[in-house]
Amino acid sequence: MSSGRTLLFLEDDRDLQTLVGTFLREKGYRVEPARSAAEAQSVLSRMPVDAAIVDGLLPGMTGADFIRELRKTQPKLPILFASAFWKDLKSHELLTRQLGVVRIIHKPYKPEELLVWVNQLFPATVPPPPPPEALEEAEEVELEVDDLAASLAALNAEYGARLKEKVAELEALLVRGRGGDAEALEAAYTVVHKLHGTAGSYGFAEVSIRAGRLEAVLLPARAGAPLDVAALDAAFRELATAAAVPVKPVTAPPQRPSEGVLLVVDEDAKLLADVERLGRQLGVGVVTARTADAARDVVRQRWVDGVLIHVDLGGPLGGLTAAHALRAEEGLPVLPLAVTGARDVLEERVAAAHAGASLFLPRPFTAQDFSSAAERMVAARRPERARVLVVDDDPDAITALSQALASDQVEVVGLNDAHGLMEALAQHRPDLLLLDVQMPGPSGFDLCRILRSTPEWQELPVLLITAHLGLEFRLAAFQAGADDYLSKPVLREELRARVQARLDRTRLSRERAERDALTGLLLRRPFLDGLRSRLAESKRQGRPLALCFLDVDHFKQVNDRYGHLAGDRVLMWMGRLLGARFRREDVRGRWGGEEFVVGLLGEDAGSASEILARTAAELSAMTFEGDTGEPFHVTFSAGIAVSTKDGDTVEALLRAADARLLRAKENGRNRIEA
Ligand code: GH3
Ligand code: MG
Ligand code: MG
Repeated sequence: MSSGRTLLFLEDDRDLQTLVGTFLREKGYRVEPARSAAEAQSVLSRMPVDAAIVDGLLPGMTGADFIRELRKTQPKLPILFASAFWKDLKSHELLTRQLGVVRIIHKPYKPEELLVWVNQLFPATVPPPPPPEALEEAEEVELEVDDLAASLAALNAEYGARLKEKVAELEALLVRGRGGDAEALEAAYTVVHKLHGTAGSYGFAEVSIRAGRLEAVLLPARAGAPLDVAALDAAFRELATAAAVPVKPVTAPPQRPSEGVLLVVDEDAKLLADVERLGRQLGVGVVTARTADAARDVVRQRWVDGVLIHVDLGGPLGGLTAAHALRAEEGLPVLPLAVTGARDVLEERVAAAHAGASLFLPRPFTAQDFSSAAERMVAARRPERARVLVVDDDPDAITALSQALASDQVEVVGLNDAHGLMEALAQHRPDLLLLDVQMPGPSGFDLCRILRSTPEWQELPVLLITAHLGLEFRLAAFQAGADDYLSKPVLREELRARVQARLDRTRLSRERAERDALTGLLLRRPFLDGLRSRLAESKRQGRPLALCFLDVDHFKQVNDRYGHLAGDRVLMWMGRLLGARFRREDVRGRWGGEEFVVGLLGEDAGSASEILARTAAELSAMTFEGDTGEPFHVTFSAGIAVSTKDGDTVEALLRAADARLLRAKENGRNRIEA
């Protein structure tokens, strides 16, 4: 198949060129490879090209230099720029504004990711014929995708097999380079730079990362600084280790399986065998690991819904450090966490809650304890999916769109009678709406206009889908207030990319609207919404809920003595402290000024005071600097109210906590009253 689109692909790494070239050709593009500026110029003199993909660093010059030259003869050519270095704002501006780069893609990238951007270069009015991923050709496409997956897997395996040779070559070059051979050092740099940019595309993410570190060691030496031999050796050894690991490359992000998956990290082999057996009975997938490193490997390679970890893994409270490390992995900061420990002492429980554990499971635990813990954790990670409502009078279209969109992050609800839209919105409360334009009854335009005049749904992102994309249509879509539009047949990848981009943007702007800019905590109203739902949950579960009111002591004096900016820094750190500690289900907000509120689910007056006391200790141990550099310390006072003892409505709890805060102030400040 041929789309008639020709891409100039300027990339000096032959391996990356093979991988990406194969992929793009399979997707219907004509790819003209070039490995240097001269080769690229020769391609351009021989044939017209529709777009160019340009590597950031070429033999003897940068990608930006090349583009600047290119612009003299090709002022309009769409260019994608692939770079292994993060671009600072200045160079980003230079590339996009002055050199007209459409998009900067960060290496290592996945070929699928590049394809989405390449597809977007070409206006949908002239879709590449025939569309390879059109939903209508689903069956045929599955086969092709399988073939492609097989040929890509073969390429990955072959690259993996050659990694060892590359590392051996690199080692030899580095030995010569250390002996003063500048040419060898330059050659070594080239090898390292390519590994950095390419290995990840083949699924060897760790090799890319470590090559990046080695590259950072070599860079100053290239610029004439003395070579840091110790750092060089260490970085090379790290790289060689990663390259020697015969891992099956992970090419796709971990996919969420339909059943829940719990990772149990414990040194006790018998306990691990027991929980695996229990998991099978409960229909919960249980994966196990015996060390913190093994646990990290698990979360990198597969989806997990939650982690149960032994508090004393590898030493007293070592499990909490391990838990922090797991949560620091990309995409896992809100990973539900439970800990298990032998001593059910308040201190340990409090440390666990402080570290972000939602549950403390005293050892030994029963099957019943384990199953309710597993259920709660798996449930905790599920409701975060975004919801998309698809309105189309053709049920087949709904099915096709749902299949294309439904994923770990997205849940799709279909509606084939537009008259039921308002009810469906109220019932499902979607995050995004996909509207067919031509339907019997109200058209997509009509519906869109109606929503834009309904206060509740004014902000809902709307994507229109239509067979026509002429100017008239685009104007009508714009006037109706749609956010975006897609043409039929809808390309899966484009649909996903556009929907995801919208969802991410709305989530971000919603979060911004709900949060206080200085402290990053929830504003009063969203806090109260969160608190209300926690209170309802605590009633259902018959567990207590502790509401804490915090107020910084003598804050007016802080402002007066050390300056308003220093005061702001104190508030910012208060926000960070409250935001980083506690568990994912705890709500924290800035009530106003120097007053903060925290709702701790499942804690009573005693445990809540202990938890807050730790936060108080952390705050008072911090040294702040006044506007002229003088050091100072701050403390806070707090009042705690617990449901249902002190009341069972949010209002009653707030009143009670506020009264106790006042008492804490009267009793001398820097104290917690419960
Ligand atoms: P107490 O120990 O009784 O709570 O005394 P206090 O001085 O902390 O209490 P008071 O309520 O008298 O003063 C609070 C001060 O907080 C007054 C106000 O100017 C200051 N403030 C409120 N919001 C901000 C802010 O965003 N930044 C700064 N720097 N100060 C703020
Ligand atoms: Mg105060
Ligand atoms: Mg105050």
